[in-house]
Amino acid sequence: MSLLLSGGTIVRSIRPAVVDEADLLLQDGRVAAAVAMPVEATRLDCSGCLIVPGNVCAHTHLYSALSRGMPYHLAAPRTFVEILQHVWWRLDRALEPATIRASALAGGMEALLAGTTTLVDHHASPNAVDGSLDIVADALAELGIRSVLCYETSDRDGAVVAGQGLAENARFLASTSTGERPLARGMVGAHASFTLSPETLAACAELARERAVGLHIHAAEDAADERDAEARFGSRVVARLAAAGALDGRTLLAHGVHLDPGEIEIVRAAGATVVHNARSNMNNAVGRAPLATLGERVALGTDGIGADMFEEARAAYFRRREEDVGTSLSWPLERLAEGARVAGEAFGEPLLGGLQPGAPADAVVLRYPAVTPVDAGTLAAHWLFGIGSGSVRDVIVGGALVVRDGRPVRLDAAAVAAEARNEAAALWRRLEGIEVHPFEPVEAR
Ligand SMILES: [Zn+2]
Repeated sequence: MSLLLSGGTIVRSIRPAVVDEADLLLQDGRVAAAVAMPVEATRLDCSGCLIVPGNVCAHTHLYSALSRGMPYHLAAPRTFVEILQHVWWRLDRALEPATIRASALAGGMEALLAGTTTLVDHHASPNAVDGSLDIVADALAELGIRSVLCYETSDRDGAVVAGQGLAENARFLASTSTGERPLARGMVGAHASFTLSPETLAACAELARERAVGLHIHAAEDAADERDAEARFGSRVVARLAAAGALDGRTLLAHGVHLDPGEIEIVRAAGATVVHNARSNMNNAVGRAPLATLGERVALGTDGIGADMFEEARAAYFRRREEDVGTSLSWPLERLAEGARVAGEAFGEPLLGGLQPGAPADAVVLRYPAVTPVDAGTLAAHWLFGIGSGSVRDVIVGGALVVRDGRPVRLDAAAVAAEARNEAAALWRRLEGIEVHPFEPVEAR
């Protein structure tokens, strides 16, 4: 299948910004070098449009997609750990296969409609572990969105569930190496240092090494994670990960809010990527990530607050700008590009995240009648102060048109939403019967 996007302004790259006016031919899943239109190509008139590389959300939780508006009758959480015990560790235990599927369809559809073409997801469903990543991958394949999936291995629900989590990662990684899932890849998922025993963490690190993939783990999101590592192991979180062989250039560390200068040095020396989730950090009042010293390997994620990366990039920019007026306009775009680099590494596609010839054809057509010139020098300003997910018209993933005129091509949006509401009602009923999670991090005495 070939698509010719004609008459638009093309953003070839966001790190560095490269913009040109040309027709864009997408052929056999990639950006073609030539623009001569093959006879069988479908032409999309993109006059007045900006064509950008699809956005990558480098950390999300599709399993929380049906939590929007869910009832809550317990005492209000006072700490980050209580937010987990009272909310997310109850929700994840209420998930059943049908809920997992409806969540993935709903969250994946919203991501595509917002111009996000790759989701790096972290999944947890302790009472439905086995096969859960297949359910997520199947739903996302139906929508036509690219994904890097993992299961959140943790000891918080006991050793049996921890073993199931590890096995689910291993099983899914084996299934993605056969070529049957062109749009899905895996990582090894682990929750966070404070819910992992030495044995479980070592097993996760070993699996990641064996499969030559990265570990995707929450790190130093809240100070409780650091206090637990210090109390149990006499070390900071990152030193613990490094000592367990769980830190290398493929590791994805979500949040990193409480990393100290010594940990930052270790992270940078390892070449690991920290995923900054600005809105989630604000929402959970966990603090500010040390962005000034983390360097280039910082990507952006939503941590489950939707998958609108235009909005996330804006929030990250304004929040950082509030404390450092020297923050450049290009900083959030460079962070989005870092997320694409991580996804590209998972797919063995170094050009993912750009629209240069040979790159995977993941593109978003934005309706954008620009009122000032768009070029390499002004792109970042347009990104932060002009375009947004409301401008998304068409979305292409791997060369396939999956959103046309603001509607998913392969599934009926209203039907996906109706199914999600059905499943949400059942999920919310089950949730009422689930107690506050008893797991506690260790505090120093
Ligand atoms: Zn998270």
